[in-house]
Amino acid sequence: MDLSYILNELGEDRELYFNSVAPPIIQTSNFAFKKVDEMRKAFQDEYSTFLYSRGLNPTVKILSEKLAALDGAEDCLVFNSGAGAIFAAVFANVKSGDHIISVDKPYTWAQKLFNVILPRFNVTTTYVDGRDIENFKNAIQSNTSVIYLETPNSWSFYLQDLKEIANLAKEKNILTICDNSYCTPLYQRPIEYGIDLVLQSATKYINGHSDVIAGVLSGNKAMIKRIFDSEFLNMGIGTTPFNAWLMLRGLRTLDVRLARISETTKKVVAFLKSNEKVEEIIFPFDKDFPQYDLAKKQMQGACGLFSFFIKTNAIKEIETFCENLQHILMAVSWGGYESLIIPGCASVKPEDFDANTKEHKQLRMYVGLEDAQYIIDDLKRGFEAIKS
Ligand SMILES: *Cc1c(COP(=O)(O)O)cnc(C)c1O
Repeated sequence: MDLSYILNELGEDRELYFNSVAPPIIQTSNFAFKKVDEMRKAFQDEYSTFLYSRGLNPTVKILSEKLAALDGAEDCLVFNSGAGAIFAAVFANVKSGDHIISVDKPYTWAQKLFNVILPRFNVTTTYVDGRDIENFKNAIQSNTSVIYLETPNSWSFYLQDLKEIANLAKEKNILTICDNSYCTPLYQRPIEYGIDLVLQSATKYINGHSDVIAGVLSGNKAMIKRIFDSEFLNMGIGTTPFNAWLMLRGLRTLDVRLARISETTKKVVAFLKSNEKVEEIIFPFDKDFPQYDLAKKQMQGACGLFSFFIKTNAIKEIETFCENLQHILMAVSWGGYESLIIPGCASVKPEDFDANTKEHKQLRMYVGLEDAQYIIDDLKRGFEAIKS
């Protein structure tokens, strides 16, 4: 399907709302019926009828049609957070006694689900280094029901070969779920490689303006309906009409934002690579990235997120660098208009800082929509502050 058509038209029927160009925010909790039989049908199949906005809502529906089309999926659900999408996707596909294989260090709240919540229901998880298919093969047990992936990983940037893993899982009748937040469906389409369920934090590029928390889960109709009828309605974790409207607004510019960010990131990465104070940079589309070939094979793009390491063993220098940036904000998240940085050392007490532990020294950076030179000049300011 044509990307411009999806972003500008799909799911929209302006005649239904006074030919307004922008879709309306249908801010309602419930929908009325004229006939008992219509209401009866809605009770029987809430997945296909507007009944109550915890389920379907017209504004959300416009958005979900677009997002499913982007993923190349039959349908999708839009959640109130990416974490909610992860929870529903996994929870809907395990039962007591099951086993999950997850890629090492997935998103924090996926880890909490695997380590804290699911063990209470007798569901266990094995973490594997996802760079080698053999590790998945070796971890499979007779009760393995889910393989959970995140490629590229948003911290290590390690990749998994989606096609290879999807083939293995199909052979063994195991469901595959992939967190695609890093790429968005514009730059990687896991469903086309045979992955069953793909999710992403729409908080990041989909909304793209740092003002909405949301998540998307896409898959085939039978699976999405099953999750809708159960976890989705039961937990009440769908997005709201207003947030859906903001995401529709964000989507209009998704491809231009990603293109701009990709170009800027190339320049920022090149600047950092040539800087004598930089020890290493980790970015999937960098030629020195160990899995560069796989990145080029399965991803159509890599945009704003990468990591770098300053040549220093002193936590103070890393802190000084970050605190002297004037425009790049020190904040979590990414995918918005503003450039961001997270120092790994913020996750450890100063006395526990260990220069030999890579994560402690890591600076994860996100390149936003600013001009490349504006960002580079800010980084120069940071380096200037630690010049010895
Ligand atoms: C942010 C993020 C999530 C969670 O999304 P929220 O919208 O914050 O709940 C999941 N996976 C990745 C890789 C993320 O970066």
